[in-house]
Amino acid sequence: MNCQHENIEQKFVEKEFAGEKFRRKTSVCKNCGAFLRDKEYELAFLGWLQDVYKKDRNKFQVQCHLDTGLVTVADKFLAEYPGVSQSHLFRSLVVVYLDHIDSDVQLSATFDSLIDFKILDSFTRKLEKKRVNIQFKPKMLVELEAMADAVDGRPAVLVEAAVVKMMSAITSQNSALKDFWEAEVMKYLDPILKAA
Ligand SMILES: [Zn+2]
Repeated sequence: MNCQHENIEQKFVEKEFAGEKFRRKTSVCKNCGAFLRDKEYELAFLGWLQDVYKKDRNKFQVQCHLDTGLVTVADKFLAEYPGVSQSHLFRSLVVVYLDHIDSDVQLSATFDSLIDFKILDSFTRKLEKKRVNIQFKPKMLVELEAMADAVDGRPAVLVEAAVVKMMSAITSQNSALKDFWEAEVMKYLDPILKAA
């Protein structure tokens, strides 16, 4: 049952993204058929994705539906960052959340313990929603798709959950959460927004 993948051959393996196909040889186990996509394969795939990105960035947008109250808070927050779009703010929140908080067991536990669930709930009611397209870079979208695959979900669900969580923190008046936000989030978020 547990194949050790000892009988390897080189075969073309296809990977699809947004209706386009990437095809390249990589190691495949003759016994069980597993694709052993190595680093080279993944790097070539990422290079190919960059070309797709250059041709059509829209393919790397994730369409989200966000609470209108949340969007209003986002606009207020953005008053301090002239010229920064909502889409850019939401993308930045997702990147900071996934790269710096969610990936750190201790930080994410602290963050979760400070979340104001009243605000969180108010942002997830299915009342008035605004459609927002959030633009990602290829590498981030590949990561999002892998994470979504792991939980049998769609990237949009992950993105919406991350935006809602981060926006609930921006909205909260809880002083411990504000301290956490200043210390752990703004040091990453502020430079990203200022560089826009
Ligand atoms: Zn095998």
